[in-house]
Amino acid sequence: MLEKFRLDGKTALITGGNRGIGLAVAHALGEAGAKLLISGRSKVEEAKKSLADAGYDVAFVQADIRDPAAPQQLVDAALARWGRLDILVNNAGIASHGDTPDFDEERWRQVMDTNVDAVFRGCRAALVPMRKQGSGAIVNVGSISGFISNVPQNQVAYNASKAAVHMMTKSLASEFAAENIRVNAVAPGYIDTNMSRGGIENPEWFPIWRDMTPMARVGTPDEVAACVLFLCAPASSYVTGEVLVVDGGYLTR
Ligand code: NDP
Repeated sequence: MLEKFRLDGKTALITGGNRGIGLAVAHALGEAGAKLLISGRSKVEEAKKSLADAGYDVAFVQADIRDPAAPQQLVDAALARWGRLDILVNNAGIASHGDTPDFDEERWRQVMDTNVDAVFRGCRAALVPMRKQGSGAIVNVGSISGFISNVPQNQVAYNASKAAVHMMTKSLASEFAAENIRVNAVAPGYIDTNMSRGGIENPEWFPIWRDMTPMARVGTPDEVAACVLFLCAPASSYVTGEVLVVDGGYLTR
């Protein structure tokens, strides 16, 4: 059974694989045997070193995922390198919070461009070679914020963007199921990364997050990466359109 978690010979594109959850996903997929193409803007040298030191076959492309041309360029880079693309993990994302009356158009656009438009463009670009190959696995990184309105931070754009990611996932899953292309998502709760650090360090927010999480702790990037690996691997061959919640029980309340 464990061999069904192997990805030997598979090729994987991970957006935002340079840090946080994306870097943990890169390690998990690399350890399972996948060849990796990572995109991101910051900490590229650090990420390169950590993945190369682990012995994975890895390449990097610097790209701002908000650029409408970037997702296609990343898929093209994968095809130029390997001639095929087996796995796409749409992980790059940003959070933004603030009272809605003060939430200007620019911040709304920033969140939507990054969390929704880039995910759509990435899926659209990857589905072309996956359809030709007759196989593929896409995993989008959603959030518990796509299901519930998080407290105490007000996050109208982030919540809306992650709900869109979940529904995009289900829609594409049904469209491509008969072509052997699976499309799933993970919905993390509070995970210890740069994105949530401000809240973890906030004496007003963190106790609320902890008390609302039955496991009474934040999660680690590795705990999300393990679920992404499952959804990319043959172990989940009959799973598509699923939004796998990874939240220490947060949504059970
Ligand atoms: P981080 O802030 O640590 O990482 C965000 C990643 O997204 C970085 O790799 C960053 O790259 C990339 N990114 C953001 N904007 C762009 C852009 N315009 N162009 C290219 N890359 C970009 O956060 P996480 O690791 O926590 O977040 C990863 C995903 O997990 C996101 O989709 C997030 O919404 C989701 N998530 C996180 C949760 C948490 O509690 N941490 C909870 C639920 C979901 P760069 O270094 O170039 O900025």
